[in-house]
Amino acid sequence: MTQPISHVVIVGGGTAGWMAAAAAARFLDDGQRRITLVESDAIGTVGVGEATIPPIIGFNRLLGLDEGRFLSATGGSYKLGIEFVGWDTGEDRYFHPFGHHGRDFDGLNFHQAWLKLRDRDGIGPIDDYAMAAAAAHAGTFAPPVADPRSPLSGLAYAYHFDAGRYAAFLRAQAEAGGVTRIEGRIERVERDPASGHVAAVVLGDGRRVAGDLFIDCSGFRSLLLGQAMGVPFVDWSHWLPCDRALAVPTRRTDPVLPYTRATARPAGWQWRIPLQHRTGNGHVYASAFMDDAEAERLLLANLDAEPTDTPRRLSFRAGRYQRMWEGNVVALGLAGGFLEPLESTSIHLIQNGISKLFALFPDKRFTAVERDRYNRFMTDAYDGIRDFIILHYHATRRDDTPFWRHVRTMTIPDTLAEKIALFREKGRIFRYDDELFAVPSWVAVMIGQNIMPDGYDPIVDALDEDRVADALRQMRRANATLARTLPPHAAVLARVGEAA
Ligand code: FAD
Repeated sequence: MTQPISHVVIVGGGTAGWMAAAAAARFLDDGQRRITLVESDAIGTVGVGEATIPPIIGFNRLLGLDEGRFLSATGGSYKLGIEFVGWDTGEDRYFHPFGHHGRDFDGLNFHQAWLKLRDRDGIGPIDDYAMAAAAAHAGTFAPPVADPRSPLSGLAYAYHFDAGRYAAFLRAQAEAGGVTRIEGRIERVERDPASGHVAAVVLGDGRRVAGDLFIDCSGFRSLLLGQAMGVPFVDWSHWLPCDRALAVPTRRTDPVLPYTRATARPAGWQWRIPLQHRTGNGHVYASAFMDDAEAERLLLANLDAEPTDTPRRLSFRAGRYQRMWEGNVVALGLAGGFLEPLESTSIHLIQNGISKLFALFPDKRFTAVERDRYNRFMTDAYDGIRDFIILHYHATRRDDTPFWRHVRTMTIPDTLAEKIALFREKGRIFRYDDELFAVPSWVAVMIGQNIMPDGYDPIVDALDEDRVADALRQMRRANATLARTLPPHAAVLARVGEAA
């Protein structure tokens, strides 16, 4: 194909579709190019997906969204990390904080110093060194600051929000930016016999929407990438056996906590996500190990407030498509793959897909080199997150149910096995290219799940031991003191809402 890409068609109007549309309106609309989104009200959207990770802040900024207006429109709250309950022995808890644990020492990872000195008086658990964890436990919130002397410089944050409202908020922005929305059900996909590219989608009433580039945001159906283009699905259910979720809202309970909670259950786990107007709850479980009725009973028995609706059931399969860009089709969101929401990564993968697509935008013609680079970016992104999620299941001492015995003893991907082995040896973590989760995240989960290294990086021995121990004690005290003096999370939300 050699003519310019003048019409981009987005198929689907869930979170993925409207994120893509808002970004396209902002960055691809040069006055020459048309952007159309097709969605079906009758089919609807997945409608769950409430927790995010810090890069969402950059995405919202790129779109020019005002934080206060965004939080008001989506019922959003701040998120400082995830508290994991019962993942190691069933009785334990640890925090995966956003940001880092403590300041690095002369370029050496903070956790290496902690590993060496952790048994000394006044050093305490690694969680205490994360400002995000300290504020989360105190129920307070403040944004990060640039001054490296402040403990707040080590903190990062994200949001909890209602993904349906986020999509609606972005829709208003996208339509104002010139995106045309077509409502209707796509019944047929036409492909060009010569190139194999998608030529048009055809709606139930006969309307035909032709385009040059198609962004498939059709959800689990994967209407274009999986169905029309026939790209194979890479199934990861042997590593991630959870394949069902039940989601139920409860009324808001105070205080609105600035973090997500993920509590291990006999065949999966339960989420608790506090929004301004309600709390989102869900039970993710493996149908091979628990039936739906028992899963629902467990969820309803473990809520901290009355449900305001009946539980919604969703089925899924862990995995991704072999390629996410095929011909003139690029899939985003559930149409490209799915990893359970344990580390709140789906919306991030949409954002990542959008930014990589724009970075490699074909403009005048499709080239193999751009497409292949995109596919490598995205498959690496999914694979890295896959390993991180498997770690939570595999590194456990639980053996109280067949599910936990299975995940504990299963064979894991070689990439993860190597990461664990390196960490066990001297606490070293090496990130693969462009990997999403940084060293502090891996450290939080490894140590949280009781993978305690046998040693530490010997470079730490070059540091003055007493000086480092004093610095650690001081960091720990400073975090605890500051966390108590910050404003309560609910007060920050109220202030931001009033200013919006
Ligand atoms: P969908 O919401 O399914 O949208 C698909 C769109 O395609 C709809 O508009 C539909 O109408 C349209 N469509 C489909 N077929 C047709 C057709 N034939 N004709 C016309 N239109 C069509 N993500 C996070 O980041 N954090 C979380 O905490 C989180 N929690 C989750 C919990 C669960 C249980 C699940 C299942 C997902 C969770 N996610 C989470 C993922 C998140 O919900 C999705 O990534 C996000 O909502 C994007 O969905 P989507 O837009 O890809 O698909």
